[in-house]
Amino acid sequence: GGGSLEPADLVIAATGSAAPGWARASGVATDAGGFLSVDAHHRSVSHPRIFAAGDVAARTDRALAHAGVHAVFAGPVLAANLRHMLAGETPRAAYHPRWNSLYLMNTGDGSAILSYGPLSAQGSWVLALKHWIDKRWIAKYAALAKSE
Ligand SMILES: Cc1cc2nc3c(=O)[nH]c(=O)nc-3n(C[C@H](O)[C@H](O)[C@H](O)COP(=O)(O)OP(=O)(O)OC[C@H]3O[C@@H](n4cnc5c(N)ncnc54)[C@H](O)[C@@H]3O)c2cc1C
Repeated sequence: GGGSLEPADLVIAATGSAAPGWARASGVATDAGGFLSVDAHHRSVSHPRIFAAGDVAARTDRALAHAGVHAVFAGPVLAANLRHMLAGETPRAAYHPRWNSLYLMNTGDGSAILSYGPLSAQGSWVLALKHWIDKRWIAKYAALAKSE
């Protein structure tokens, strides 16, 4: 805050996510942090024709971390509900996240840290697992791109 430069051996930037200013300014219901308040169908609790998923959204029925894993898995639910709306139906798809998510962090030294609920581990095998999962995920997009 003072703008001074301090010597440091290690800097960990763990800032969390922040809501964009337009969310609160829009008049759509938001939580205390300014994230759009949505129900389990990812539908705004104040404006039934507005849907949100991912970092910008905050579930009112349960706490949900602003993490990529939830943004990704809520995507198909959002798509299904938009289709329901376009067909004049009630949006009925709901996102039920698992209570624990697998987090894998590359530590840059040939190793990675794994965290799953109360469990944690570290090692080169964790990095191998991370690469396997990441490459399998990206390969899906490569296959999609080829099929277009
Ligand atoms: C350094 C870092 C590391 C992370 N690591 C992990 C991890 O290991 N695991 C994990 O699960 N999550 C991780 N996350 C969190 C993850 O990246 C987010 O939760 C995820 O990207 C959210 O997806 P989203 O689609 O909701 O938002 P975003 O990915 O932020 O996408 C929003 C998009 O909207 C665009 N946009 C914004 N405003 C406008 C506008 N006005 N008009 C048009 N476009 C606009 C932005 O440019 C952006 O492309 C990490 C995040 C950071 C910053």
